[in-house]
Amino acid sequence: MTMDSIIPLGLRIMQWYERNGRNLPWRKDKNPYRVWISEVMLQQTRVETVIPYFKRWMKRFPNIKSLAESTENDVLSVWEGLGYYSRAHNLLKTARIIMREFGGKFPRNLESLKDLPGLGAYSSAAIASIAYNENQPAIDGNIRRVYSRLFDIRISMKTSLFERRIRRIAEQNLPHGRAGDFNQALMDFGAMICLPKQPKCTECPLEDRCLAFRRGVQNLLPMVGQATPIPHEQQAAAIIIHKRGKLSKVLLRKRSSKGLLAGLWEFPSVYVNTNQGQELARRFLSTFKLKLRKKSLFTTVKHSYSHFRVTLSAYAFTYNSGKITKDFKWVDLGDLSEYPMGKVNRLIADQLVLNPNER
Ligand code: SF4
Repeated sequence: MTMDSIIPLGLRIMQWYERNGRNLPWRKDKNPYRVWISEVMLQQTRVETVIPYFKRWMKRFPNIKSLAESTENDVLSVWEGLGYYSRAHNLLKTARIIMREFGGKFPRNLESLKDLPGLGAYSSAAIASIAYNENQPAIDGNIRRVYSRLFDIRISMKTSLFERRIRRIAEQNLPHGRAGDFNQALMDFGAMICLPKQPKCTECPLEDRCLAFRRGVQNLLPMVGQATPIPHEQQAAAIIIHKRGKLSKVLLRKRSSKGLLAGLWEFPSVYVNTNQGQELARRFLSTFKLKLRKKSLFTTVKHSYSHFRVTLSAYAFTYNSGKITKDFKWVDLGDLSEYPMGKVNRLIADQLVLNPNER
């Protein structure tokens, strides 16, 4: 056991931060106003983008009073280009609330902070800990990632169980009395070492404490949750050929005017559990009252739509008997290109034209 391995995790992160922490303009003076503006600017925006905006803002609105007394137009013109403009509106609203209801002093209590426009749990905890050194863990995406790896938490991020586990770890590892620096240390650690993709484990001061690294699963964490499986449909289509003398015609059906591929033409198809052509012939007889004689499997086509995948097996049949209803049409093979079709049916149609002997 090395000396490092018995130093508490929080202290190890703080030691790293003291040597490597970023020198950011809002860290020079931790007055609540500056911390608040920087935290709001950093919501959904990268540090490098925020820096010039923060400097301009502080020149124009150096304190809460100057902000509260400004106009919406002033605020928006300084904010312009930073995006998510509701943040700028909320800053102005909040400055006026603080002047009116808190005598110009930023509240330090977490619950009062959370009530201010545009401040969620994370920003409130960041302000309370950084500006007032309240013992509050500020849990954001960076911190979720770092802790899920250090403690090898294999639970979907989308679950409340994951959230509870991370909060418990964050509270247990928070060095009391140094919460502000520690929260910033974790932010920098997540942004500089424990990166979302390809964490720099070989440079990491916590490598020996990281369960995910030890087990080789760091790139799999945090678990972003089970992707919703894309449904896969099996369909079978019938290429029904009717020979009239020397001419071969094929039966097409026009799709309904509503829903997927509305109004396009297709080789008549049914959903099947089995790809057996004989079953398909029976289904055609019961559904469309068409008597068919199966020839062979002609082709199989796979295609992905935005929300499902389909594997369509097209079987060649010869037409025996049965009345053709109004949605159906006998079409000369040479005319197939004149009938608009979806991708899958067009692939089949093209093969049909190119390989006339296989049908
Ligand atoms: Fe992150 Fe790798 Fe360090 Fe673990 S060892 S905390 S995965 S950088």
